[in-house]
Formats: sequence, structure tokens, C-alpha cells
Amino acid sequence: MEITTLTLGDYMTNCYILRQEASSKCLIIDPGYEAGRILAFLQEKHLEPEAILLTHGHFDHVGAVGDIAAETDCDVYISAADLSLPPMITNGKLFYTHTYPASGTLNLAGLTLRILPTPGHTPGSVCLLTGDTILSGDTLFRGSCGRTDLPGGSWEQIASSLKTLAALPGDYRVLPGHGEETTLEWERKHNPYLGQ
Ligand SMILES: [Zn+2]
Repeated sequence: MEITTLTLGDYMTNCYILRQEASSKCLIIDPGYEAGRILAFLQEKHLEPEAILLTHGHFDHVGAVGDIAAETDCDVYISAADLSLPPMITNGKLFYTHTYPASGTLNLAGLTLRILPTPGHTPGSVCLLTGDTILSGDTLFRGSCGRTDLPGGSWEQIASSLKTLAALPGDYRVLPGHGEETTLEWERKHNPYLGQ
């Protein structure tokens, strides 16, 4: 699997583009801003997005969804639980074509993804697991975790979600919604919000 990180917009949101080696199909995770820059990257690499997957519905993760979907006609997945977030924190009406399936698994662009519900930052926050990688959205950051003071946030829920992540067997590369990448093992040892 090849992963490209584009850090976009005023909030420095990490947008990730995932693809199987040598495949022209890709997935876009959290295109928060700068649709033009994302589309230019796809064009340069001759990539066709099969879907956009959202870790949650906050404006800084969804801002470029409508423009990319209009341009490429790709599907857009979000957790049903984030559809009730107030418009002031979602950049208006959320654009999506599918909610994540109850099975918790998606096969897209030749990749298998496990959709792990990790509520707390928002009610519908998810972590996306594929291979040895976790796309952790705003649930887990390097040395920190997402805020829970916005509407729909819950400290009790994120604490429980972080416990779930810490208990995953083995190590993972962790790609968060903001900031540097990390590993689950480093977080287990150093992140004060894990293992409490
Ligand atoms: Zn957020």
C-alpha cells in the first residue's frame, strides 16, 4: 500500500491518499481543504478516487468533499452518528453518499478497511484500519488526543475509545488527522491519555 499525506488548510488537516502499489484506484481520507490541490495530485499521478472516507464530520475534515465528489463522481462514506452534528461545525450540510456499514468492513480500491467506531471527539468518529496502519482522525494524536468540548463531544467516550485502541494487538503505524505520524506502541508508552 502507498500512502500520500497532504497537509491542508489553516488547521493543517492531514488528508491521506491510499492506494495499492501500481493501482490507479485510490481512496481519499478527510479532504478538508484545497480541492484543487488534491485534484491536481490525482491528475499528476493518474489516480481515480473510488471513495472518500471521513473519520468524522468536522468542517476542517470535510471542506473539499463536495468539490472532489462533483469532479470525480466518487462515493463518500461517513458515520451515521455524525449526521446530527450542528451545521456550524460541519461546514454546512454534510455531503455523503453512504454511511459506514454495520459490518464494520469495507472493500474499496483493492484495500480492505476495518471501520472501528471511536466516539468521543464526535459521536460518529471512527478509526480506519488497513494492513498495519490506523488512520486515527482526531481521536488519537501523537502524545495527545482530540478535544471533546465541541457539541457532541464526550470525554467519557473518548477515554473508552482510546482504551480500545490501546488494547489492539500488536503495533500499528498511526496516521492522525493533525500533526506527525506515530506508532501505537509509542503511544502506549508515552501518551498520558492511553492506558489510563
Ligand atoms: Zn475534529
